[in-house]
Amino acid sequence: MSRLASRRILVVGSLNADTSLVLARTLLLGETLAAESVHKGLGGKGANQAAAAAKSGGRVAMIGAVGADEPGRALLAHLRALGVDIEGVLVSPDHLTGEAAILSFPGGENSIVVHAGANHALTPDVLRTMAAAFDAADLLVVQCEIEADVVEEAIAMAVARGVPVLLDPAPAAAVRRSWLHDVAFLTPNLTELAALTGLSIDGRDAVADAARSLLRDGVKCVLAKRGAEGVLVVTPDAVQSISAPSVAAIDTTGAGDMFAGAFAAAWTEKRDLLAAVAFANAAAALSTQERGAARSFPDRAAVLRLST
Ligand code: ADP
Repeated sequence: MSRLASRRILVVGSLNADTSLVLARTLLLGETLAAESVHKGLGGKGANQAAAAAKSGGRVAMIGAVGADEPGRALLAHLRALGVDIEGVLVSPDHLTGEAAILSFPGGENSIVVHAGANHALTPDVLRTMAAAFDAADLLVVQCEIEADVVEEAIAMAVARGVPVLLDPAPAAAVRRSWLHDVAFLTPNLTELAALTGLSIDGRDAVADAARSLLRDGVKCVLAKRGAEGVLVVTPDAVQSISAPSVAAIDTTGAGDMFAGAFAAAWTEKRDLLAAVAFANAAAALSTQERGAARSFPDRAAVLRLST
């Protein structure tokens, strides 16, 4: 195996069973409404980003926790089938697997209720027993659906080993400002960028200004996700816009997770920032062509056909 192929991505994050209910209109408090359709899926930002990185050709290990139940077994089987090393995923007999109920309204709006369940079994103490996974990592990918103290410990363990950190600041409210100093890549969408900076984000220049303010907090590179507009790459040296391939989006659920995972895979492979963003953009655009999160993730060959 070549040296490049042996680079490893460590994902620390959530694993959830998703139930999406498609509704014809928004729901009133106390009302019962028949769903148009229901879709069961495997998700959690951590599991999604691990799956996305593996489908993109990355070598991936995951740390997280599920319950000793059917959704937990399904999540482990799903990641194992994609070649993700799941040795670091705890199976907690004391918790149910995390669950997300997604109410999908016309026009693409969602309301989401999450029960963290077994995700809370991953504590900073547990994480510290997994030092070997950090020793072997070339990039840490972490999001904010797990306890903030665990995110903080993961970042500290990566930094102590010189491992670059990709932080997906979702949900943004969970981000601690002190983390930003240690972040190599921050991947906010526009809502998260506004929440993190307190700035209103309207147009490319406003996105660039907001991203630059995060560079002042210590982030090395902001990859601002702008939906159909693609991504603005902001570093201390340059602001570059990478457009997304033009597609008619059907469902953008999980597009941000596909972006993070595909970027991680492409960057660990080539270490070329703009090429990795272009690959991730194409992967995320393709993932909008089907309903659902992980089930809509394209494989590497399909992305390469679109991006080269
Ligand atoms: P998030 O899913 O995190 O809310 P975005 O909505 O910005 O973030 O989507 C993430 C990425 O998915 C975008 O940066 C882009 O690469 C891709 N994407 C999303 N919507 C579209 C679209 N309508 N057309 C093409 N690409 C899209």
